[in-house]
Amino acid sequence: MAERMLKFVGTPQAMPEKRPAAARRHDFQEIYSAYARDKAAEQAARCSQCGVPFCQIHCPLHNNIPDWLKLTAEGRLDEAYELSSATNNFPEICGRICPQDRLCEGNCVIEKGFESVTIGAVEKYITDTAWERGWVKPIVPRRERAQSVGIVGTGPAGLAAAEQLRRKGYQVAIYDRYDRVGGLLIYGIPNFKLEKEIVQRREKLLRDSKVTFHLNCRVGLDVAFAELRRRHDAVLVATGVYKARDIQTPGSGLDGIAPALDFLTASNRAGLGDTVPAYESGVLNAKGKHVVVIGGGDTAMDCVRTAVRQGARSVKCLYRRDRTNMPGSQREVKHAEEEGVEFVWLTAPQSFLGRNSPRGQRVSHVRSVRIHLGLPDATGRQTPQEIPDSHLNVEADLVLKALGFDPEDLPALLGAHDLGVTGWGTLKIDWKSMMTSLDGVFAAGDIVRGASLVVWAVRDGRDAAERIHGYLAAKAIAALPVAAE
Ligand SMILES: Cc1cc2nc3c(=O)[nH]c(=O)nc-3n(C[C@H](O)[C@H](O)[C@H](O)COP(=O)(O)OP(=O)(O)OC[C@H]3O[C@@H](n4cnc5c(N)ncnc54)[C@H](O)[C@@H]3O)c2cc1C
Ligand code: SF4
Repeated sequence: MAERMLKFVGTPQAMPEKRPAAARRHDFQEIYSAYARDKAAEQAARCSQCGVPFCQIHCPLHNNIPDWLKLTAEGRLDEAYELSSATNNFPEICGRICPQDRLCEGNCVIEKGFESVTIGAVEKYITDTAWERGWVKPIVPRRERAQSVGIVGTGPAGLAAAEQLRRKGYQVAIYDRYDRVGGLLIYGIPNFKLEKEIVQRREKLLRDSKVTFHLNCRVGLDVAFAELRRRHDAVLVATGVYKARDIQTPGSGLDGIAPALDFLTASNRAGLGDTVPAYESGVLNAKGKHVVVIGGGDTAMDCVRTAVRQGARSVKCLYRRDRTNMPGSQREVKHAEEEGVEFVWLTAPQSFLGRNSPRGQRVSHVRSVRIHLGLPDATGRQTPQEIPDSHLNVEADLVLKALGFDPEDLPALLGAHDLGVTGWGTLKIDWKSMMTSLDGVFAAGDIVRGASLVVWAVRDGRDAAERIHGYLAAKAIAALPVAAE
């Protein structure tokens, strides 16, 4: 092993080739190309195979990273795939979009002095290769079970749970109000981070595994939640969080100010070939506009980079803290800067100024104020404080609000008024059983955690599937006829 591994001293870190920013600015294709086989093996061999793998500890799925890196270095890719897919339902998706700098790679021990192993890129390579070579096969359970599970939501939490439950032989039906499968993977995250075919081939795999999909189906409206509970032996709620946080300042009702997810969904739909009137009319299209995005998280980063690709005249990101205190991934900021986005740090909007246009009053500027970071609050984060007399007007024809998401009022939406929620509106669960306040109703993903990450949704979906299996197995045993003495 020692011969093949531990190459980090002599072999520098090399990500797969990144397309030049000038080319990236004009299309929505992913920005990294794939590793060639020998390059993946070379990079995997940089792993130091340390005794306590902090990468694995800090991966929410506790992926067996050192072992699949070693197998990749040795060219044993089929085994690497077996191992990597044993703990992760979507390794090629996580490899593309996990914020590795905060998770596995950020905790790689060789990061101290040498740059980390490119764990995400190798994970993506292993599973993309598995798809190419036909190793990824539909599920054929060892035995079918009569019990069925209904899942609300086809995001990563719902899909991961569906796959795990199907493996155990349950009949799985999954419902979504969207017309496509994938939740934020399909309509939130742009193509340049995750191409849609990657999500769609997963959908096909689940369909071929006999998971049933009911799309365009709003649970609580098109089908009652109580009906779902009657239909299935257990129900999993994995509905995500969609109530966009708003900004209530003078001028916030002007035309040209839109929620970030509406903009991203329109762009993703247009990319998928849908007719999107708001995109075609220019309402949700950045072409030729001065665009200002408010916020500093993943959604804001996706908006600025989408606006660039749509042909905006200028793109600015306004964030009230500084670069080191932003929630979005540093890697994404770097990509955005390369693509021509300007970051206006330590600046907060105060009001929106308007101008007359043929269609009424339209936004023209974001009136903003400079911020100074004061003493840390109870959460440890420095409090933003306005600097007096530091106003500036930032020109804008399109303003996108990317301030985060809260849960919708789920008990009202589902018509399930005894469904318990927390003070934040997320679903309250017993963390041991993952069951909500309703018997046989479980919950997973963002609707439990609040807005989080795909990898955590996968983890929750897997955990929920395990707990549902325990619940249904106990139920099946209880239903067995009692043997006569
Ligand atoms: C713009 C954006 C970019 C992001 N980028 C990243 C990233 O780069 N990396 C990362 O790790 N994470 C990222 N995230 C976060 C990540 O997408 C989420 O944490 C993850 O998708 C949550 O998964 P989920 O399954 O809980 O919910 P979702 O993916 O939100 O799926 C929930 C599904 O439930 C459906 N649904 C809701 N209510 C109903 C109902 N009543 N009836 C029927 N169906 C219903 C919805 O239509 C949706 O399809 C991003 C999020 C956003 C918004
Ligand atoms: S799932 Fe995410 S955190 Fe875990 S190893 Fe893969 S890229 Fe890293």
